[in-house]
Amino acid sequence: PEFVVFNELIADTLSLVQQSLSVKQNTVLIDFKTVYDPNIGEVQLIPKEISKAFLNIFSNACDTLRSRKLAEGEGFSPCLEVTTMDLGDRVQMTIRDNGEGIPPEIIDQIFNPFFTTKPTGEGTGLGLSLTYEAIAAIHQGEITVNSEVGVYTEFIVLLPKQGFNN
Ligand code: ADP
Ligand code: MG
Repeated sequence: PEFVVFNELIADTLSLVQQSLSVKQNTVLIDFKTVYDPNIGEVQLIPKEISKAFLNIFSNACDTLRSRKLAEGEGFSPCLEVTTMDLGDRVQMTIRDNGEGIPPEIIDQIFNPFFTTKPTGEGTGLGLSLTYEAIAAIHQGEITVNSEVGVYTEFIVLLPKQGFNN
């Protein structure tokens, strides 16, 4: 683990997402909003693991925003909002999209390995299980999800600032 400026790690990961979207054909325009708490500073973590974990959450958001845009067209404006917050000995990141949402009957399964609602070949169902592993098991953090179908999905990640000293 290393001490890493938390907001920078998120900004770098987000720009990877935006770059990969901009090179793809047929992607929809997403309005990215970020609100970074300047008080956070450095957090002790494994950058590769956390960056990968966040990338999975961001790309799921982009996937659902694309699907909803293709289904609804003109009247829908895809938006992804990332917020960080200093909580003293912990940091919080919230990722919110206004995509399709997650039905209550499947929301308990989304962190399970191989659970996917995507067509064969488009999703492995491994993204969120690896994300959960990285955040909960490796970094002793927490990840939770809230959603309302047709309105929003929000992932909340909590990480200890010094997870490896506990
Ligand atoms: P995959 O992306 O390969 O399907 P994941 O583990 O990343 O696998 O996600 C599992 C499932 O969780 C997705 O197939 C989807 O049904 C649901 N999901 C994850 N993130 C979102 C989101 N932001 N909005 C709606 N559904 C989501
Ligand atoms: Mg995924």
